[in-house]
Amino acid sequence: MVAPPAGGAVCSLTEWRGAPILVPHLGTLDAMDSIRSAELIAVGTELLLGEIVDTNTAYLARALADRGVDVYWSQRVGDNRGRITEAIDTALSRADLVLLCGGLGPTEDDLTREAIADAVGETPVVDAELERVLRERFGRLGRDMPNGNLKQAWLLPSAEALPNPAGTAPGWLVRTSFAGAPRLVAALPGPPRELTQMWNEQLVPRLVFPGAVFAAATLKTHGIGESHVGSALAGLTERANPSVATYAKRDGVHVRVAAKGASREAARAALEPVLREVERRLDGHVWGRDADELPTLVLQALRTQGLELAIVDGASGGALIDRLDEAGDDREGWPLTSAVIAWRDDAMAVLGAEMDAPASLDRDGADAQAIAAHLAETGRARCAADLCLALAPWRVNAMDGTPAGASWLSAWAIAGPNGTEARRVTLPELGHGWRRERVAFTALVALWTQLART
Ligand code: AMP
Ligand code: MG
Repeated sequence: MVAPPAGGAVCSLTEWRGAPILVPHLGTLDAMDSIRSAELIAVGTELLLGEIVDTNTAYLARALADRGVDVYWSQRVGDNRGRITEAIDTALSRADLVLLCGGLGPTEDDLTREAIADAVGETPVVDAELERVLRERFGRLGRDMPNGNLKQAWLLPSAEALPNPAGTAPGWLVRTSFAGAPRLVAALPGPPRELTQMWNEQLVPRLVFPGAVFAAATLKTHGIGESHVGSALAGLTERANPSVATYAKRDGVHVRVAAKGASREAARAALEPVLREVERRLDGHVWGRDADELPTLVLQALRTQGLELAIVDGASGGALIDRLDEAGDDREGWPLTSAVIAWRDDAMAVLGAEMDAPASLDRDGADAQAIAAHLAETGRARCAADLCLALAPWRVNAMDGTPAGASWLSAWAIAGPNGTEARRVTLPELGHGWRRERVAFTALVALWTQLART
Protein backbone atom coordinates (compact mmCIF):
# COMPACT_ATOMS: atom_id res chain seq x y z
CA MET A 1 0.00 0.00 0.00
CA VAL A 2 2.91 2.35 0.68
CA ALA A 3 5.29 2.91 -2.17
CA PRO A 4 9.01 2.57 -1.57
CA PRO A 5 10.55 5.91 -0.53
CA ALA A 6 11.65 8.09 -3.42
CA GLY A 7 15.41 8.11 -3.76
CA GLY A 8 17.28 11.02 -2.17
CA ALA A 9 14.37 12.65 -0.35
CA VAL A 10 14.13 12.69 3.43
CA CYS A 11 11.56 9.99 3.59
CA SER A 12 11.46 7.59 6.41
CA LEU A 13 12.65 7.10 9.93
CA THR A 14 14.54 4.05 8.77
CA GLU A 15 16.72 6.15 6.52
CA TRP A 16 17.43 8.86 9.04
CA ARG A 17 18.52 6.60 11.80
CA GLY A 18 20.30 4.06 9.67
CA ALA A 19 18.62 1.20 11.49
CA PRO A 20 15.34 -0.59 10.88
CA ILE A 21 12.50 0.37 13.16
CA LEU A 22 9.56 -1.81 13.99
CA VAL A 23 6.35 -0.71 12.33
CA PRO A 24 3.73 -2.91 13.96
CA HIS A 25 1.22 -3.22 11.12
CA LEU A 26 3.47 -3.17 8.12
CA GLY A 27 2.93 -6.86 7.49
CA THR A 28 -0.80 -6.43 7.09
CA LEU A 29 -0.33 -3.24 5.07
CA ASP A 30 1.64 -5.08 2.47
CA ALA A 31 -1.32 -7.38 2.02
CA MET A 32 -3.31 -4.51 0.50
CA ASP A 33 -1.99 -3.44 -2.86
CA SER A 34 -3.63 -0.05 -3.21
CA ILE A 35 -5.77 2.54 -1.50
CA ARG A 36 -9.35 1.96 -2.54
CA SER A 37 -11.06 4.52 -0.36
CA ALA A 38 -10.18 7.67 1.52
CA GLU A 39 -11.92 9.91 4.02
CA LEU A 40 -11.06 13.57 4.42
CA ILE A 41 -11.01 15.44 7.71
CA ALA A 42 -10.52 19.21 7.65
CA VAL A 43 -9.56 20.53 11.06
CA GLY A 44 -10.22 24.08 12.24
CA THR A 45 -12.88 25.91 14.22
CA GLU A 46 -12.75 28.73 11.67
CA LEU A 47 -14.13 26.27 9.09
CA LEU A 48 -17.15 25.56 11.29
CA LEU A 49 -17.75 29.25 11.85
CA GLY A 50 -17.76 29.88 8.12
CA GLU A 51 -14.85 32.29 8.45
CA ILE A 52 -12.80 30.53 5.82
CA VAL A 53 -13.90 28.31 2.97
CA ASP A 54 -12.67 24.73 3.05
CA THR A 55 -10.82 24.73 -0.26
CA ASN A 56 -8.40 22.03 0.92
CA THR A 57 -11.14 19.41 1.00
CA ALA A 58 -12.24 20.35 -2.52
CA TYR A 59 -8.65 20.12 -3.77
CA LEU A 60 -7.94 16.76 -2.15
CA ALA A 61 -11.32 15.26 -3.05
CA ARG A 62 -10.71 16.05 -6.68
CA ALA A 63 -7.11 14.80 -6.59
CA LEU A 64 -8.29 11.50 -5.06
CA ALA A 65 -11.15 11.11 -7.54
CA ASP A 66 -8.74 11.71 -10.42
CA ARG A 67 -6.64 8.82 -9.11
CA GLY A 68 -9.57 6.46 -8.83
CA VAL A 69 -9.89 6.56 -5.02
CA ASP A 70 -13.46 6.50 -3.70
CA VAL A 71 -14.33 9.18 -1.15
CA TYR A 72 -17.62 8.35 0.55
CA TRP A 73 -17.40 10.76 3.49
CA SER A 74 -15.59 13.91 4.43
CA GLN A 75 -15.71 15.59 7.81
CA ARG A 76 -15.05 19.07 9.15
CA VAL A 77 -14.17 19.33 12.81
CA GLY A 78 -13.15 22.16 15.15
CA ASP A 79 -9.91 22.50 17.13
CA ASN A 80 -10.93 20.04 19.83
CA ARG A 81 -8.75 17.04 20.67
CA GLY A 82 -11.59 14.69 21.63
CA ARG A 83 -13.69 15.48 18.61
CA ILE A 84 -10.77 15.23 16.18
CA THR A 85 -9.91 11.81 17.70
CA GLU A 86 -13.53 10.73 17.31
CA ALA A 87 -13.52 11.87 13.67
CA ILE A 88 -10.34 9.85 13.02
CA ASP A 89 -11.76 6.76 14.78
CA THR A 90 -14.89 6.92 12.66
CA ALA A 91 -12.91 7.44 9.46
CA LEU A 92 -10.56 4.54 10.30
CA SER A 93 -13.57 2.25 10.56
CA ARG A 94 -14.55 2.89 6.94
CA ALA A 95 -11.66 4.13 4.77
CA ASP A 96 -8.20 2.85 3.81
CA LEU A 97 -6.66 6.31 3.95
CA VAL A 98 -7.66 8.95 6.50
CA LEU A 99 -6.41 12.26 5.21
CA LEU A 100 -6.37 15.19 7.64
CA CYS A 101 -5.55 18.80 6.92
CA GLY A 102 -4.97 21.70 9.30
CA GLY A 103 -4.15 21.83 12.98
CA LEU A 104 -0.41 21.23 12.53
CA GLY A 105 0.58 24.71 13.69
CA PRO A 106 2.64 25.40 16.83
CA THR A 107 -0.15 26.77 19.04
CA GLU A 108 -2.20 25.07 21.73
CA ASP A 109 -5.26 24.88 19.53
CA ASP A 110 -3.38 22.96 16.83
CA LEU A 111 -4.28 19.46 18.00
CA THR A 112 -4.15 17.20 14.97
CA ARG A 113 -0.94 15.43 16.07
CA GLU A 114 -2.30 14.80 19.58
CA ALA A 115 -5.54 13.42 18.15
CA ILE A 116 -3.78 11.08 15.73
CA ALA A 117 -1.62 9.80 18.61
CA ASP A 118 -4.77 9.17 20.67
CA ALA A 119 -6.53 7.44 17.78
CA VAL A 120 -3.66 5.05 17.02
CA GLY A 121 -2.72 4.62 20.69
CA GLU A 122 0.87 5.83 20.48
CA THR A 123 2.89 8.47 22.30
CA PRO A 124 4.64 11.17 20.30
CA VAL A 125 8.32 11.85 20.94
CA VAL A 126 10.50 14.70 19.77
CA ASP A 127 12.45 13.45 16.81
CA ALA A 128 16.04 14.68 16.95
CA GLU A 129 16.37 15.08 13.21
CA LEU A 130 13.10 16.96 12.83
CA GLU A 131 14.11 19.23 15.72
CA ARG A 132 17.43 19.96 14.05
CA VAL A 133 15.74 20.84 10.75
CA LEU A 134 13.25 23.07 12.55
CA ARG A 135 15.90 24.93 14.58
CA GLU A 136 17.96 25.39 11.45
CA ARG A 137 14.98 26.92 9.70
CA PHE A 138 14.48 29.44 12.52
CA GLY A 139 18.23 30.09 12.57
CA ARG A 140 18.24 30.93 8.87
CA LEU A 141 15.56 33.52 9.56
CA GLY A 142 17.66 34.88 12.46
CA ARG A 143 14.99 34.02 15.02
CA ASP A 144 14.88 31.93 18.20
CA MET A 145 12.51 29.03 18.00
CA PRO A 146 9.56 29.48 20.38
CA ASN A 147 8.98 26.50 22.68
CA GLY A 148 5.56 25.88 21.16
CA ASN A 149 7.16 24.98 17.85
CA LEU A 150 8.86 21.95 19.37
CA LYS A 151 5.73 19.88 18.84
CA GLN A 152 6.24 20.33 15.12
CA ALA A 153 9.24 18.00 15.63
CA TRP A 154 7.06 15.28 17.17
CA LEU A 155 6.80 11.90 15.60
CA LEU A 156 5.01 8.66 16.41
CA PRO A 157 6.80 5.29 16.24
CA SER A 158 4.69 4.32 13.22
CA ALA A 159 4.77 7.72 11.56
CA GLU A 160 6.94 9.01 8.80
CA ALA A 161 7.50 12.77 8.56
CA LEU A 162 6.65 14.54 5.33
CA PRO A 163 9.07 17.44 4.77
CA ASN A 164 7.53 20.89 4.35
CA PRO A 165 9.84 23.20 2.40
CA ALA A 166 7.19 25.96 2.45
CA GLY A 167 6.53 26.07 6.21
CA THR A 168 7.52 24.88 9.66
CA ALA A 169 5.00 22.06 10.06
CA PRO A 170 6.06 18.68 8.66
CA GLY A 171 3.25 16.37 7.68
CA TRP A 172 2.77 12.84 8.95
CA LEU A 173 2.12 9.53 7.29
CA VAL A 174 1.11 6.93 9.87
CA ARG A 175 0.73 3.23 9.23
CA THR A 176 -1.87 1.61 11.42
CA SER A 177 -4.76 -0.83 11.23
CA PHE A 178 -8.41 -1.16 12.03
CA ALA A 179 -9.82 -4.56 13.05
CA GLY A 180 -6.88 -6.25 11.36
CA ALA A 181 -7.24 -4.27 8.14
CA PRO A 182 -4.39 -2.00 7.05
CA ARG A 183 -4.93 1.73 7.28
CA LEU A 184 -3.00 4.91 6.59
CA VAL A 185 -3.46 8.21 8.37
CA ALA A 186 -1.88 11.24 6.75
CA ALA A 187 -1.81 14.80 8.05
CA LEU A 188 -1.10 17.80 5.85
CA PRO A 189 -0.72 21.47 6.89
CA GLY A 190 -3.69 23.84 6.53
CA PRO A 191 -2.24 26.64 4.38
CA PRO A 192 -3.31 25.67 0.85
CA ARG A 193 0.08 26.42 -0.71
CA GLU A 194 1.85 24.11 1.76
CA LEU A 195 -0.85 21.49 1.48
CA THR A 196 -0.80 21.21 -2.31
CA GLN A 197 2.99 21.09 -2.43
CA MET A 198 3.21 18.40 0.25
CA TRP A 199 0.42 16.38 -1.31
CA ASN A 200 2.02 16.37 -4.76
CA GLU A 201 5.66 16.09 -3.81
CA GLN A 202 5.59 14.03 -0.62
CA LEU A 203 2.41 12.08 -0.21
CA VAL A 204 1.45 11.09 -3.74
CA PRO A 205 4.82 9.39 -4.44
CA ARG A 206 4.44 7.34 -1.24
CA LEU A 207 0.95 6.05 -1.96
CA VAL A 208 -0.18 3.33 -4.30
CA PHE A 209 -3.38 4.28 -6.08
CA PRO A 210 -5.83 1.96 -7.80
CA GLY A 211 -5.22 1.34 -11.46
CA ALA A 212 -8.66 2.80 -12.12
CA VAL A 213 -9.03 6.32 -13.47
CA PHE A 214 -11.99 8.61 -13.85
CA ALA A 215 -13.33 10.27 -16.93
CA ALA A 216 -16.24 12.68 -16.90
CA ALA A 217 -18.22 14.75 -19.37
CA THR A 218 -20.93 17.32 -18.86
CA LEU A 219 -23.89 17.97 -21.14
CA LYS A 220 -25.46 21.41 -20.77
CA THR A 221 -29.19 21.87 -21.25
CA HIS A 222 -31.64 24.72 -21.29
CA GLY A 223 -35.39 25.13 -21.23
CA ILE A 224 -36.07 22.12 -18.99
CA GLY A 225 -36.20 22.16 -15.17
CA GLU A 226 -34.02 19.92 -13.01
CA SER A 227 -36.92 17.72 -11.92
CA HIS A 228 -37.96 17.15 -15.55
CA VAL A 229 -34.37 16.32 -16.44
CA GLY A 230 -34.43 13.92 -13.48
CA SER A 231 -37.55 12.12 -14.71
CA ALA A 232 -36.25 11.99 -18.27
CA LEU A 233 -33.08 10.35 -17.00
CA ALA A 234 -34.85 7.88 -14.68
CA GLY A 235 -32.92 4.64 -14.47
CA LEU A 236 -29.66 6.30 -15.48
CA THR A 237 -29.20 8.45 -12.37
CA GLU A 238 -29.35 5.42 -10.08
CA ARG A 239 -26.35 3.76 -11.70
CA ALA A 240 -22.95 3.83 -10.05
CA ASN A 241 -20.65 3.39 -13.04
CA PRO A 242 -21.04 5.36 -15.19
CA SER A 243 -22.82 7.68 -12.80
CA VAL A 244 -25.21 10.36 -14.01
CA ALA A 245 -25.93 13.45 -11.91
CA THR A 246 -27.76 16.73 -12.53
CA TYR A 247 -26.75 20.22 -11.38
CA ALA A 248 -28.83 23.40 -11.75
CA LYS A 249 -26.59 26.20 -13.02
CA ARG A 250 -27.20 29.73 -14.19
CA ASP A 251 -27.08 28.67 -17.85
CA GLY A 252 -29.43 25.71 -17.37
CA VAL A 253 -29.28 22.20 -15.97
CA HIS A 254 -25.97 20.39 -16.41
CA VAL A 255 -25.84 16.61 -16.64
CA ARG A 256 -22.52 15.12 -15.56
CA VAL A 257 -21.64 11.60 -16.60
CA ALA A 258 -18.63 10.03 -14.88
CA ALA A 259 -17.07 6.64 -15.46
CA LYS A 260 -14.28 4.69 -13.86
CA GLY A 261 -12.14 2.33 -15.89
CA ALA A 262 -8.81 0.56 -15.96
CA SER A 263 -7.39 3.27 -18.21
CA ARG A 264 -8.40 6.74 -19.32
CA GLU A 265 -9.38 5.30 -22.69
CA ALA A 266 -11.52 2.61 -21.09
CA ALA A 267 -13.22 5.17 -18.85
CA ARG A 268 -13.89 7.47 -21.80
CA ALA A 269 -15.24 4.58 -23.86
CA ALA A 270 -17.64 3.71 -21.02
CA LEU A 271 -18.94 7.31 -21.04
CA GLU A 272 -19.90 7.51 -24.67
CA PRO A 273 -23.00 5.27 -24.85
CA VAL A 274 -24.40 6.88 -21.70
CA LEU A 275 -23.80 10.39 -23.08
CA ARG A 276 -25.60 9.42 -26.27
CA GLU A 277 -28.51 8.04 -24.26
CA VAL A 278 -28.72 11.22 -22.15
CA GLU A 279 -28.70 13.30 -25.32
CA ARG A 280 -31.42 11.16 -26.86
CA ARG A 281 -33.66 11.50 -23.80
CA LEU A 282 -33.12 15.26 -23.57
CA ASP A 283 -33.52 15.78 -27.27
CA GLY A 284 -33.70 19.44 -28.22
CA HIS A 285 -32.51 20.70 -24.85
CA VAL A 286 -28.77 20.02 -24.98
CA TRP A 287 -26.86 23.06 -26.23
CA GLY A 288 -23.29 22.26 -25.28
CA ARG A 289 -20.73 20.05 -23.62
CA ASP A 290 -17.91 20.43 -21.07
CA ALA A 291 -16.16 23.77 -21.51
CA ASP A 292 -18.77 25.14 -23.95
CA GLU A 293 -20.16 28.51 -22.90
CA LEU A 294 -23.24 29.94 -24.59
CA PRO A 295 -21.88 33.47 -25.15
CA THR A 296 -18.74 32.05 -26.77
CA LEU A 297 -20.74 29.68 -28.98
CA VAL A 298 -22.98 32.55 -30.11
CA LEU A 299 -20.06 34.86 -30.92
CA GLN A 300 -18.23 32.10 -32.79
CA ALA A 301 -21.32 31.27 -34.86
CA LEU A 302 -21.84 34.95 -35.73
CA ARG A 303 -18.21 35.26 -36.85
CA THR A 304 -18.24 32.03 -38.83
CA GLN A 305 -21.43 33.04 -40.62
CA GLY A 306 -20.25 36.61 -41.11
CA LEU A 307 -23.31 38.06 -39.39
CA GLU A 308 -23.66 41.23 -37.41
CA LEU A 309 -26.01 41.32 -34.48
CA ALA A 310 -27.84 44.20 -32.83
CA ILE A 311 -29.44 43.89 -29.42
CA VAL A 312 -32.33 45.76 -27.88
CA ASP A 313 -32.44 44.72 -24.26
CA GLY A 314 -35.59 45.64 -22.40
CA ALA A 315 -35.47 42.80 -19.89
CA SER A 316 -32.04 41.65 -18.72
CA GLY A 317 -30.83 45.08 -17.62
CA GLY A 318 -27.67 44.68 -19.67
CA ALA A 319 -26.84 41.14 -18.45
CA LEU A 320 -27.14 39.76 -22.00
CA ILE A 321 -24.70 42.31 -23.42
CA ASP A 322 -22.44 41.84 -20.43
CA ARG A 323 -22.19 38.05 -20.97
CA LEU A 324 -21.32 38.54 -24.66
CA ASP A 325 -18.86 41.28 -23.82
CA GLU A 326 -17.09 39.03 -21.26
CA ALA A 327 -16.76 36.27 -23.85
CA GLY A 328 -15.70 38.58 -26.67
CA ASP A 329 -12.20 38.86 -28.00
CA ASP A 330 -11.47 42.13 -29.77
CA ARG A 331 -8.70 40.60 -31.83
CA GLU A 332 -11.20 38.38 -33.58
CA GLY A 333 -13.55 41.21 -34.51
CA TRP A 334 -16.69 42.17 -32.75
CA PRO A 335 -19.88 40.86 -34.35
CA LEU A 336 -22.22 43.14 -32.40
CA THR A 337 -23.14 46.27 -34.31
CA SER A 338 -25.11 48.05 -31.63
CA ALA A 339 -26.61 47.34 -28.30
CA VAL A 340 -29.34 49.34 -26.66
CA ILE A 341 -30.44 48.78 -23.11
CA ALA A 342 -34.01 49.91 -23.47
CA TRP A 343 -35.05 49.17 -19.95
CA ARG A 344 -37.75 51.83 -20.00
CA ASP A 345 -40.08 52.76 -22.81
CA ASP A 346 -38.81 56.34 -23.00
CA ALA A 347 -35.37 54.86 -23.71
CA MET A 348 -36.93 52.82 -26.46
CA ALA A 349 -38.15 55.99 -28.07
CA VAL A 350 -34.49 56.57 -28.95
CA LEU A 351 -34.89 53.70 -31.36
CA GLY A 352 -37.95 55.32 -32.83
CA ALA A 353 -39.98 52.29 -31.89
CA GLU A 354 -43.56 53.41 -31.87
CA MET A 355 -45.37 51.63 -29.16
CA ASP A 356 -47.43 52.14 -26.07
CA ALA A 357 -45.39 49.85 -23.90
CA PRO A 358 -47.06 50.35 -20.51
CA ALA A 359 -50.60 49.73 -21.76
CA SER A 360 -49.61 46.76 -23.90
CA LEU A 361 -47.74 45.15 -21.10
CA ASP A 362 -50.86 45.00 -19.02
CA ARG A 363 -52.28 42.49 -21.41
CA ASP A 364 -51.20 38.90 -22.05
CA GLY A 365 -48.00 37.35 -23.33
CA ALA A 366 -48.99 37.69 -26.96
CA ASP A 367 -48.51 41.42 -26.58
CA ALA A 368 -45.08 40.95 -25.07
CA GLN A 369 -44.16 38.89 -28.14
CA ALA A 370 -45.56 41.52 -30.46
CA ILE A 371 -43.58 44.22 -28.67
CA ALA A 372 -40.40 42.13 -28.82
CA ALA A 373 -40.93 41.49 -32.53
CA HIS A 374 -41.56 45.17 -33.18
CA LEU A 375 -38.40 46.13 -31.28
CA ALA A 376 -36.34 43.49 -33.08
CA GLU A 377 -37.50 44.63 -36.51
CA THR A 378 -37.02 48.32 -35.69
CA GLY A 379 -33.59 47.60 -34.18
CA ARG A 380 -32.51 45.56 -37.19
CA ALA A 381 -33.48 48.34 -39.61
CA ARG A 382 -32.06 51.18 -37.51
CA CYS A 383 -28.73 49.46 -36.89
CA ALA A 384 -28.46 47.97 -40.37
CA ALA A 385 -27.70 44.63 -38.73
CA ASP A 386 -28.17 41.14 -40.15
CA LEU A 387 -29.92 40.02 -37.00
CA CYS A 388 -31.50 41.85 -34.13
CA LEU A 389 -32.41 40.22 -30.87
CA ALA A 390 -34.89 42.11 -28.73
CA LEU A 391 -36.15 41.46 -25.24
CA ALA A 392 -39.48 43.06 -24.41
CA PRO A 393 -39.73 45.04 -21.19
CA TRP A 394 -40.82 42.79 -18.37
CA ARG A 395 -43.71 42.98 -16.03
CA VAL A 396 -44.08 41.51 -12.59
CA ASN A 397 -47.72 41.14 -11.69
CA ALA A 398 -49.54 38.10 -12.88
CA MET A 399 -52.31 39.13 -15.28
CA ASP A 400 -54.93 37.33 -17.26
CA GLY A 401 -53.17 35.12 -19.71
CA THR A 402 -50.05 34.71 -17.59
CA PRO A 403 -49.42 31.00 -17.03
CA ALA A 404 -50.08 29.76 -13.48
CA GLY A 405 -47.05 30.07 -11.24
CA ALA A 406 -45.32 32.60 -13.45
CA SER A 407 -44.78 35.92 -11.78
CA TRP A 408 -42.64 37.40 -14.46
CA LEU A 409 -43.28 37.74 -18.15
CA SER A 410 -41.30 38.97 -21.09
CA ALA A 411 -40.58 37.84 -24.61
CA TRP A 412 -37.68 37.59 -26.96
CA ALA A 413 -37.71 38.10 -30.69
CA ILE A 414 -35.06 37.65 -33.34
CA ALA A 415 -35.49 39.54 -36.58
CA GLY A 416 -33.41 38.31 -39.50
CA PRO A 417 -33.39 38.19 -43.27
CA ASN A 418 -35.96 35.37 -43.26
CA GLY A 419 -38.44 36.98 -40.92
CA THR A 420 -38.99 37.33 -37.22
CA GLU A 421 -39.33 34.65 -34.57
CA ALA A 422 -40.76 35.54 -31.16
CA ARG A 423 -41.43 33.57 -27.97
CA ARG A 424 -42.78 34.35 -24.58
CA VAL A 425 -40.50 34.03 -21.53
CA THR A 426 -42.15 33.27 -18.22
CA LEU A 427 -40.23 32.86 -15.03
CA PRO A 428 -41.23 32.02 -11.47
CA GLU A 429 -40.62 34.43 -8.61
CA LEU A 430 -36.88 35.02 -8.60
CA GLY A 431 -34.50 37.56 -7.14
CA HIS A 432 -33.67 40.45 -9.42
CA GLY A 433 -30.13 39.25 -10.23
CA TRP A 434 -31.29 35.73 -10.99
CA ARG A 435 -34.06 36.98 -13.26
CA ARG A 436 -31.57 39.04 -15.27
CA GLU A 437 -29.29 36.00 -15.64
CA ARG A 438 -32.10 33.66 -16.58
CA VAL A 439 -33.54 35.92 -19.23
CA ALA A 440 -30.06 36.63 -20.63
CA PHE A 441 -29.36 32.90 -20.98
CA THR A 442 -32.81 32.27 -22.45
CA ALA A 443 -32.00 34.86 -25.11
CA LEU A 444 -28.58 33.32 -25.74
CA VAL A 445 -30.14 29.88 -26.21
CA ALA A 446 -32.63 31.38 -28.66
CA LEU A 447 -29.81 32.96 -30.63
CA TRP A 448 -27.67 29.84 -30.52
CA THR A 449 -30.58 27.66 -31.64
CA GLN A 450 -31.29 29.93 -34.57
CA LEU A 451 -27.63 30.26 -35.55
CA ALA A 452 -27.07 26.49 -35.31
CA ARG A 453 -30.03 25.93 -37.65
CA THR A 454 -28.64 28.07 -40.43
P1 AMP B 1 -3.80 25.41 10.54
O1 AMP B 1 -2.87 24.45 9.93
O2 AMP B 1 -5.03 24.78 11.06
O3 AMP B 1 -3.12 26.28 11.57
O4 AMP B 1 -4.28 26.40 9.38
C1 AMP B 1 -3.47 27.43 8.92
C2 AMP B 1 -4.20 28.27 7.89
O5 AMP B 1 -4.47 27.49 6.74
C3 AMP B 1 -5.57 28.78 8.32
O6 AMP B 1 -5.51 29.98 9.01
C4 AMP B 1 -6.26 28.95 7.01
O7 AMP B 1 -5.95 30.20 6.45
C5 AMP B 1 -5.69 27.85 6.17
N1 AMP B 1 -6.57 26.68 6.16
C6 AMP B 1 -6.69 25.75 7.17
N2 AMP B 1 -7.56 24.79 6.81
C7 AMP B 1 -8.01 25.11 5.58
C8 AMP B 1 -8.94 24.49 4.68
N3 AMP B 1 -9.56 23.35 4.98
N4 AMP B 1 -9.16 25.10 3.48
C9 AMP B 1 -8.52 26.25 3.17
N5 AMP B 1 -7.64 26.87 3.97
C10 AMP B 1 -7.37 26.31 5.17
MG1 MG C 1 -6.10 25.77 12.69
